[in-house]
This record gives sequence, C-alpha cells and structure tokens, in this order.
Amino acid sequence: SAAPPTDIEIARRARLEPILTLAEARLGLAPEHLIPFGHHRAKLSLDLLDALRERPRGRLVVVSAITPTPAGEGKTTACVGLVDALNRLGVTSLACLREPSLGPVFGMKGGAAGGGHAQAVPMEAINLHFNGDFHAVTAAHNLLAALVDNHLYWGNALDIDPERVTWTRVLDLNDRSLRRVRTALDEARGGEHETGFEITAASEIMAILCLAEDLDDLQRRLGRIVVAWRKDDTPVTAADLQAVGAMAVLLRDALAPNLVQTLEQSPVLIHGGPFANIAHGCSSLVATRAALALGEVVVTEAGFGADQGLEKFVDIKSRQSGLTPDAVVMVCTLRALRFHGGASREAMDRPDPEAVTRGLGNLARQVAVARCFGLSPVVALNTFPTDSAEERERLAACCERLEVALEVCDHWARGGPGALSLARRVLERLEEGGQEVAPLYADGTPLEAALTAVATRLYGARGIELSAGARQALAQLERAGYGHLPVCIARTQFSFSDDPADGGLVEGHLLRVSELRLSAGAGFVVAICGRLMTLPGLPRKPAALGIGLDAQGNVIGLA
Ligand code: ADP
Ligand code: MG
Repeated sequence: SAAPPTDIEIARRARLEPILTLAEARLGLAPEHLIPFGHHRAKLSLDLLDALRERPRGRLVVVSAITPTPAGEGKTTACVGLVDALNRLGVTSLACLREPSLGPVFGMKGGAAGGGHAQAVPMEAINLHFNGDFHAVTAAHNLLAALVDNHLYWGNALDIDPERVTWTRVLDLNDRSLRRVRTALDEARGGEHETGFEITAASEIMAILCLAEDLDDLQRRLGRIVVAWRKDDTPVTAADLQAVGAMAVLLRDALAPNLVQTLEQSPVLIHGGPFANIAHGCSSLVATRAALALGEVVVTEAGFGADQGLEKFVDIKSRQSGLTPDAVVMVCTLRALRFHGGASREAMDRPDPEAVTRGLGNLARQVAVARCFGLSPVVALNTFPTDSAEERERLAACCERLEVALEVCDHWARGGPGALSLARRVLERLEEGGQEVAPLYADGTPLEAALTAVATRLYGARGIELSAGARQALAQLERAGYGHLPVCIARTQFSFSDDPADGGLVEGHLLRVSELRLSAGAGFVVAICGRLMTLPGLPRKPAALGIGLDAQGNVIGLA
C-alpha cells in the first residue's frame, strides 16, 4: 500500500475557501475590514480591531499539555481539531495560534500549523515568511541596534557605557555561529565591541507585539525598552534614543492579525510567535481580543507543558490584559507518558504499560499546576495507532483518581469529527463556569519571591539558586525600579528543572538562575535557567537538506 500522505500533501489537496468569502460567511466581516494577501490569507484591518472593542466577549479555551517529548505532543493540532469540532456543533469558533519561525522549519520540526487532518492552511505560506510579521520584528529590532551603535559613533551624548549595551541583534534562522560576535572591526574610531544575535522569536519586540493592546500601547512599550546602562547605573531607553517612531512605522502592519482557515474552513488567526522556552510563548493579545469579539469560543495554545505555557499565559498575559482562560485542555500522549516513565526516544513509540504508569506522575503534576491557577483541565488523549488498550485503561484510571475529565481524540487522523467528544466536554465546562482564575503570585511581588513561588509551587523545586551574575543583575534591577515586574522563566521544555536530562518527574531540585534580562517594554524580567540558547543551532541533518521545489515549482519536504 502507498505511504500515508504527508502534512504538505494533505494541505495541498485541501479545498480552500477564498478568504474574503470565508470571512463574510463565518464571521460576518465585509471585505473592507480585510487586507488580503493573495486569495487565502488576509490581515484584519486595525480599524476593525478598534470597532470590535465594543463587542461582547466570547469564551477562551487555552490548550496546554503535559511535559512534551522532542516530537511535540499535539497542542496545535488539538487547537485546530477542537475548533473544527466546535464549528461542526454550530458554535462559532476560532483558533488563535503562533506564527512559525524559520529556525525550526529548517531545523528539526517541520511545519508548525498543526498536522495530519488538523491543519491550518495555506501551509507553505504560513510556514515561510507568512505576511511579513517576523521580518518586520527583525527589522525593527535591528534598527534599534543600529541606532544605539550610531549614537555611540557620533559622540554618545546620552553617556551610554559602551561596555553595558544590552540590546542585541536578531535573525529568524538557527545559526549558532552568530551567538557571540565582535562588531565594527573596520571601524577607525575604535568602536569594536562584543555583541550577539538571538532568534527573532526571542526578541523583546516580538513579546511587545504580542502583548500590546493597540498602536498607542505598542509605542509606549517600545519607548520603555532598555537598551543600555550608564556608568551611574541608570537605564537608557529606546525613547531616549528617539527610536520609537521609526520602529512603530516598521511594526504597524505587523500588529494586524492574520486570518487563514483550517482544512475544514474554520477561521484561524495566526499572529506573533514568541518561543515558549525562551519567551512568553503566546500568540498576540490583539488576535485573542479580536477572536473573542468575533466568535463564541476561542481556542488558543500556550507553549509546552502547563508549568511553562499555562504559567506564562496566566502570570504574564492574563495579568497584563485581564483576559483569563475559561477552560483548559491538557493534551496528553501515551508516547510522552512512556518517555517520562523511562522509555528511550527509540522505544517510546512502542506499547509499555509499566512505563505509562510511571509517566502518569507527570500528568498528575501538570494537572496540579493548572489547579494552582484555579483551573481544572480536561485531559485530551491524542491517539496514535501504537497505543494499547491496557495503556489507555491505566490513563483512564489515573484521570479518575485525579478527578479530571478525559476525552480520547483522533482529530489528527480524522479532522473535526475526531474531536467532537472533546468539544462537547469543553462546552459543558464552559457552561458550568465558575473557575476563579488567579495568578500564582500577586502583582508587585519582588522578583526573587516570584521566582521562588514558581519554582517551589509549580516545579516542585526545593528552591532557587542565583548565579553571581544573576545576583548582581537583581541588585541593579532593584535599584533602577524594575525589581517588581513579573518574571518570564526561560528554561528547557523537557523537565521541571533547568536540565533536560532530569526528565518529566524530577522534584526537590534547585532551579539554577544563570542570568536575568530586563524586558521593560514587554513588562517582565526574563530569568534564564541553566544552559539555554537564545539562538538555536541546526542539527547534524537539518530539515533544510530535504526541502526544495518539484518540477512544477511546488514546495516539497516541508513536513
Ligand atoms: P505541539 O503544538 O504540542 O508542539 P503539534 O500539534 O505541532 O504539537 O504536533 C507535533 C507534530 O506531531 C506535528 O508534526 C503533528 O503533525 C504530529 N502529530 C500530532 N498528533 C499526531 C498523531 N495523533 N499522530 C501522528 N502525528 C501526530
Ligand atoms: Mg504548537
């Protein structure tokens, strides 16, 4: 028999609705509210976003997960499947997803717009350049870097300490050789200095784009970005450099969310793409708000496990915007349970009930994380052909003990019909209401206390340990008045600790904070834990080696 179709083959066979027709039929939007990019994608106009502010708000479902394996456990596909199922049940529903980064596309992971029969399309466009948002963020970020260096070159009127320029450069590719670079080597005036590149998904501008309420808020936040420090420990901001206007010009169009569709013609907003391990990991607030005004139920993804994605969703996005989840879906695979229970990457795709039983400890921990925020999740089992009945029974018994609902899903294989029971359960949960969602720590909590709260209460750590550099940074941030911002913890997605090798069950550890980085415009302090690269490298055999064009000019090998 023929090999099963790849994601891109399924995507290319799909019948796509013209995007203006879909917007009208599904969302009641007239063509003047949309800025089309070709036939199958469009930005919502900024005027429309203003008009939507008055509309009543739909309900918000956040899709989270247990601790993932390197393969990904299916949050994006679950968002798509759930939205397709809800629309089948007659509930107007939109998905809000992040935009893929070119780094992983050419690195390891293939497409990031779902997979199988639960995908957002047009797949190639979404995965490659899309509507230019990442490029706009890259350009705005690097413009600011150029303005900083140029300010130093022309006499440094702001008295920046050249040794303490914190603003880096970014690009949207995995390229480890740019992590640390020396610039201005041919500069006669001796401006040579060390700097580095990060991936665009880690840029503070990406976080700002995703947390801004509107153009005014975007500009206020851009102005607050701290790019450097003076010798007297006072900060120098993008506003001090008069850089805000030019950055805002580059970012204006990027603030508008992008509308596409699923394989079953459900509306999807794909907008913004901060990574969840090195940034806050949620698609844009502007898109979430627009979707909540346009639909009855909005389904959005919060990156990686609940300890990471859901924590940041509530402690950062909800805290800043007031938008809280009305329900949480926790995606789970038997593959990941086996992996957490000790099965190797090679063995994790084979049935192993004992490993599943051990790995269920991870599910219990992630359910407890959701409960710390006042949310009782619905567990969604993302099924694979290799799953055994015995393993499923053990999962069901565990969910019963944990008193959480469990729904078995196969939207990856069957599309919307494979997620109908999950959709019904989520609607029931929304009907019940009554979830009192609260952040883990109060506004204004000192940084060290906030870090300790997350580490001990969510990660099961016995405490935190700041490196000498982190301690010094903490003192400096406190002196400058930034010591009470929420914290965005950047660390591996494969464990509750800072070390991927510790696996998905570790507890009683020390969370080692190696570095603190201020994101004053985004409104948080990034705490880098353990060894974490903010510019990933490519694997030995990158996906790029298998990507190309066929004789008709179609993209092949993308996933
Ligand atoms: P996440 O958003 O949690 O990282 P994705 O939804 O992107 O996960 O899924 C990760 C990868 O696994 C995708 O390539 C997707 O197509 C694939 N996948 C997800 N669910 C299944 C499944 N049930 N069977 C086979 N492949 C799947
Ligand atoms: Mg995803």
